[in-house]
Amino acid sequence: MIKYEKYPQKCPFCGGKVQYTSNAEIYGKEYGNGKCYLCKKCGAYTGVHNNTNIALGVLANKEMRNLKIQCHNIFDKLWKNSKERNELYYKLSKIMKIKKEHCHFGHFDKEELKQALELLKTGELK
Ligand SMILES: [Zn+2]
Repeated sequence: MIKYEKYPQKCPFCGGKVQYTSNAEIYGKEYGNGKCYLCKKCGAYTGVHNNTNIALGVLANKEMRNLKIQCHNIFDKLWKNSKERNELYYKLSKIMKIKKEHCHFGHFDKEELKQALELLKTGELK
């Protein structure tokens, strides 16, 4: 588990210094709310909540971003409103034995993402 920090300063992967910066450094131009936390050393990053400098989730590398996209592709088809979404996250947290507050794909490390994806693929969450 990677500890979620609102204002990450140190990269959980390489120990490099994390900077709060423009996300043009990642995408080439500013995208969405325009800001992110970026590890200058290995390029892991996370976005921020709109109009804040609070990190959306934990810093993610390329492999984790890929897993996260795959998880969301399946997960987002399983719910129609926020009540159903909350119930699904609750179920997932029970199966994975993690705290509900921690149960968001953006807060998962690589192993947790793999586990969640497996559960989604096998339909165990439905
Ligand atoms: Zn790093």
